[in-house]
Amino acid sequence: MKIISINAGSSSLKFSLINMDDESVIASGVFERIGIDGSYTIKFNGEKHKEEVTLNNHVDAVNILLDKLISLNIVKSLEEIEGVGHRVVQGKDLFDKTVLVDDEVMEKLESIKHFAPLHNPANMLGIEAFKKALPNVPNTVVFDTAFHQTMDAVEYMYPVPYEWYEKYGIRKYGAHGTSHRYITETVSEILGTDKLKLISCHIGNGASITAVKDGKCVDTSMGFTPLAGVMMGTRSGDIDSSLLPPVMEAENKDINEIINDLNKKSGVLGLSGISSDMRDLEDAYNEGNERAILTMNKYVRRITDYIAQYYVLLGGSDVIVFTAGVGENSPLIRKLVCENLACLGVEIDDEKNNIRGKQAEISTENSKIKVYVIPTDEELMIARDTLELIK
Ligand code: ADP
Repeated sequence: MKIISINAGSSSLKFSLINMDDESVIASGVFERIGIDGSYTIKFNGEKHKEEVTLNNHVDAVNILLDKLISLNIVKSLEEIEGVGHRVVQGKDLFDKTVLVDDEVMEKLESIKHFAPLHNPANMLGIEAFKKALPNVPNTVVFDTAFHQTMDAVEYMYPVPYEWYEKYGIRKYGAHGTSHRYITETVSEILGTDKLKLISCHIGNGASITAVKDGKCVDTSMGFTPLAGVMMGTRSGDIDSSLLPPVMEAENKDINEIINDLNKKSGVLGLSGISSDMRDLEDAYNEGNERAILTMNKYVRRITDYIAQYYVLLGGSDVIVFTAGVGENSPLIRKLVCENLACLGVEIDDEKNNIRGKQAEISTENSKIKVYVIPTDEELMIARDTLELIK
């Protein structure tokens, strides 16, 4: 059985075609610059197929994708595709799990789209495009927020006027839930139990840390939006919001411009003035660049703070997992974070830690908390959910 995982952005559409018999990726790729001009890249059989094409909208992208699946001999017939799973960024408190798309689901999505104005409408365009192109194939929606719906009010409420929650839905929703759920399930498989206190660190360009107890999310570092929590590639993470008015006044910026600065010009990029990419920061850090050293220390400090906070919240921890671009590929960040956690009995083995993009236990035998690197796989999680629902 073949399932497509879709991640539609405002001007892009990424896909993975997965063979669910062995969970292997048959083909994957991205359609870019939708609504501008258009191009695609499709990876299949170790080859990359690239072409410039006109993509007026997401429907064009989906139609070309389906044509290419046939013309590149990736599938013989579109009937081989038995389900399409769509990533949706924000499900608010209306969705606590993956669901099959029907009219009611589309109405609910419509009602909450202003909560993620850059993402949800784009995700919905992807769904509409597949409904049109493959009308007989079931679609599912997999939410970034769903895994975090098990948080208690004491975790998800902000200490602001209660009416903001009642009237406007202001609360913590979190993100990266599909990744944290994948990590939770993979750790349970490795250790043979889900009765675990797990701290899952998804550290990519965007980053979030989640505390999980017995397979359920207890708290997570992102907030009402993905701007909150740890420091990220270009996002500030937690800050004091009253620092904004003086900057807005001095730079003559409105609230949207300043929020854009916090999302796109802050974090590693903003503090270092070098790059948002951890590889560049590591190079400058190793060369002794002072701003790079400050940035690295702040980055590692923020991650440590959240892990320490969740250690207390969970009443201890059995496992810490590093995943996503930085978590999977940076022995240095993992080492610096774990050194900061030495007082909790965390100890990693430098040799075992010297890996990139591979699953491994990197803690020593003496470590009181097991530390793992596990490559995340959100596309597979989306496909697994879809399979489960269409069975
Ligand atoms: P996104 O949030 O966009 O999904 P990813 O999880 O793909 O991000 O992470 C991308 C980031 O991973 C890059 O910006 C870079 O900082 C980091 N990264 C990738 N490879 C390495 C590496 N070898 N060493 C350190 N950092 C890396």
